[in-house]
Amino acid sequence: MDIQEYKGIYVFIQQVDGQVAGVSHELLGKAKELAKDMETEVTAVLLGYHVSGLCKDLASYGADKIIMVDNKDLELYSTKPYAYCMCHIIEKYKPAVVLYGATAIGRDLAPRVAARVRTGLTADCTKLDVADDGTKNLRMTRPAFGGNIMATIICPDYRPQMATVRPGVMQKIKPIDGASAPTDSIDMEIPASEKDVQILEVIKKESQKMDIQDAKILVSGGRGMGCPENFKLLENLADAIGGTVSSSRACVDAGWVEKDIQVGQTGKTVRPNLYLACGISGAIQHLAGMEESDVIVAINKDEGAPMFEVADFGVVGDALKVLPLLTEEVKKAMA
Ligand code: FAD
Repeated sequence: MDIQEYKGIYVFIQQVDGQVAGVSHELLGKAKELAKDMETEVTAVLLGYHVSGLCKDLASYGADKIIMVDNKDLELYSTKPYAYCMCHIIEKYKPAVVLYGATAIGRDLAPRVAARVRTGLTADCTKLDVADDGTKNLRMTRPAFGGNIMATIICPDYRPQMATVRPGVMQKIKPIDGASAPTDSIDMEIPASEKDVQILEVIKKESQKMDIQDAKILVSGGRGMGCPENFKLLENLADAIGGTVSSSRACVDAGWVEKDIQVGQTGKTVRPNLYLACGISGAIQHLAGMEESDVIVAINKDEGAPMFEVADFGVVGDALKVLPLLTEEVKKAMA
């Protein structure tokens, strides 16, 4: 393999029902930054059906070029047809880097593609940068050994260098008004052998709740809340300040709350304007998912809790007593 032939940073654009996933916008922003250091361009790879309407949006978030496969067989995500198209694109265009969101779809697709094109994949990255030793290799960093160390991984001998990146970790750029990007639309016949899974029906889970990754204010509860019923105190405060309830893993493991509100290394990475940590100790795996929040407020009985080390403000006290008082004060201030 002549790695010099491989050029450009490609971002797999995840879209479902014509909605681009937030992480794809985040990756375009990050790719733009990396492209400066690698002196190359950012290409968005858009697979789907009737998706050409998304091209302007991708250009506005940083794509210099778009490669699109618009095909009925790609209407709903399915591993083999998507992997087939990605591999075809990699073999044809020879990108130096391909990035995917570490979502259910990205985590399913990227390993399959890596195995087929015989390259490496670093999963679940939280940091990407470019080596300054002259090689311009992509340095892919991810937590390892239960979050106790950060491992930086390179893929010096194979191309493309591939990574999945956790949603919420990278920053989107401010959309560029009126941006456009040349689009290379590929006609692709997907062979029958790649279509041996048929999706009969998609049943969507209805949710009234806001995704914790989109929330500007998170009122987060940990084991210190004592029991699931006490989460009502968090909901009351969240309602009063226009926030959303999230949680530590301890409460998910105890069956108090659903996994989709878990913050942390094995949950979601969040970056709200305000993160209120109530009865959460501040284990490294929890901090990994929220320490980039703009303002952190900790309420904890134990003044030695590690959460206080990252908090901007702290209350040493019983969350079950502090929360109702805080909610009352917020309501008064909002009235
Ligand atoms: P605890 O550590 O039990 O802390 C409870 C806190 O509440 C204590 O600080 C206590 O002082 C305080 N408290 C008790 N009563 C009150 C009260 N009435 N008022 C105020 N404060 C009170 N954890 C995550 O959160 N997210 C992850 O994604 C995650 N991933 C992990 C991945 C791996 C591989 C591993 C090994 C662990 C992971 N963990 C994760 C678990 C993590 O290590 C901690 O065990 C977990 O975060 C602890 O949750 P907690 O802070 O709610 O509970």
